[in-house]
Amino acid sequence: MKIPAEVKILFKSYKVVDELNIHDEKSDLYGQINYLDQIIKLNPQAKDEQKKSTFLHECVHGLDEMFSIGLTEEQVEKLGTALYTFIEGNEEIFK
Ligand SMILES: [Zn+2]
Repeated sequence: MKIPAEVKILFKSYKVVDELNIHDEKSDLYGQINYLDQIIKLNPQAKDEQKKSTFLHECVHGLDEMFSIGLTEEQVEKLGTALYTFIEGNEEIFK
């Protein structure tokens, strides 16, 4: 899997950018999605695997928002990790 510079979620294009010091009110984060600005931020200090997994996690948030699925953070976490391992384990399907 390759992290793209831009990812399309339905009709929205999100820019994917590196950013240090991403955090919310509670803690430091590996990544963050901004629905209004259409940006996915990823911490460049994270290891490659972590970064890819975080990228998918943020994409799941984006899909959840676009399709009004109503996932909880825990469900996004599980689905993000599930998708990451599925895609990494079956790369030939997506070529
Ligand atoms: Zn999340």
